Amino acid sequence: MRVTTEKREALAIEGGPPARKTPLPYGHQSIDEADIQAVVETLRSDWLTTGPKVDEFEEAFAARVGAKYAVSFSSGTAALHGAAFAAGLTAGDEAITSPLSFAATANCVLYQQATPVFADVCADTLNLDPDACAGRITSRTRAVLPVDYGGHPADLDAYMQLADQHRLVVIEDACHALGSQYKGRRVGSIAHMTVFSFHPVKHVTTGEGGMVTTDDGRFAETLRRFRNHGISAEARQRQSSGQWFYEMVLLGFNYRLPDIAAALGISQLHKLEMNLARRKKIAERYEEALTGCGLRLPQVRDDVIPAWHLYPVRIDTSKLPVGRETIFRALRAENIGVNVHYIPIHLHPYYRDRFGFKGGEYPTTERAYEQLISIPMFHGMTDEDVEDVIGAVRKVTHHYLI
Ligand SMILES: *Cc1c(COP(=O)(O)O)cnc(C)c1O
Repeated sequence: MRVTTEKREALAIEGGPPARKTPLPYGHQSIDEADIQAVVETLRSDWLTTGPKVDEFEEAFAARVGAKYAVSFSSGTAALHGAAFAAGLTAGDEAITSPLSFAATANCVLYQQATPVFADVCADTLNLDPDACAGRITSRTRAVLPVDYGGHPADLDAYMQLADQHRLVVIEDACHALGSQYKGRRVGSIAHMTVFSFHPVKHVTTGEGGMVTTDDGRFAETLRRFRNHGISAEARQRQSSGQWFYEMVLLGFNYRLPDIAAALGISQLHKLEMNLARRKKIAERYEEALTGCGLRLPQVRDDVIPAWHLYPVRIDTSKLPVGRETIFRALRAENIGVNVHYIPIHLHPYYRDRFGFKGGEYPTTERAYEQLISIPMFHGMTDEDVEDVIGAVRKVTHHYLI
């Protein structure tokens, strides 16, 4: 028997009024007047790119995450590519990563002609499972790329230990996890290289942009060259020291972050603390209000402070037998911009065709994928937005709960 005190309301998907009048996205940037002024000032300056704002952003970012070096890139994907290059990944090498991520995490391995190898995720955090990862290590493995899914740090101690034992490079995809902590340490200061993204849905945005942090001076040097055509000294250094001579020492790309974007990044970084606090508050409110809705809410391990990039819930099909697709469409009809993170990488046609994946290879990942829905989570949400999401989720789930 259904045990609920809420009466069944007409769902929007069945022609009833939506829980909210206008669509709410799952993630969105917040831009204030100070951000706009910072960009305008840079537009009026001498340097639109390779100028002082890039250095200033990198220094502020490194200080914020507790790393010695931060090297900016034109996107998180370019930053991943840089890290894969700096790790020395090349044809014949393997790198192990999570199938439950954005495709770029594995694509960066392919950019280097190396082979991405997947291992299944843990059922609680949906982060790469260190034991499964250990089981996939071969003599060809050169790197591991754990992903901080949703903003919950991966089990970094386990990966650093595996790296010591097998001489691997740990590239942490922390695109979800700026500002998170693992065992009292800041993400960005733990792995050999940590990669961040400044896409508009992330905690800090530069429009497009990315960063690699590291304590290793050689990695930092290689990353700087790689993003600048493989050239050993950058334009402004040459200009300020009056030199014309430069040398291209490796095959790099133009992956530079412009000063216009860096200026926005500096201004955005000032608000990171506030943004993290707001996201934490929203997560707490969701947890309080969405318990008992037939959803498995995100689990947080005791030794981490997550950054709450996403709020991914899993449909408990023993309580909501209609399944993910129906709940998803019903919430979209209520004007709640839900999303799914992620279609497992190995199930994309490109990966299926190239590597022969058929589905069934990573059961925990695939089962989670079938149940996952990300409900809106961004620091710019008002209290009313949060209550709209809660109202809609309760309305829809209670309609279908058994
Ligand atoms: C956003 C994201 C990326 C890529 O970042 P872009 O800046 O969009 O290139 C990579 N990995 C994960 C997990 C991401 O969320």
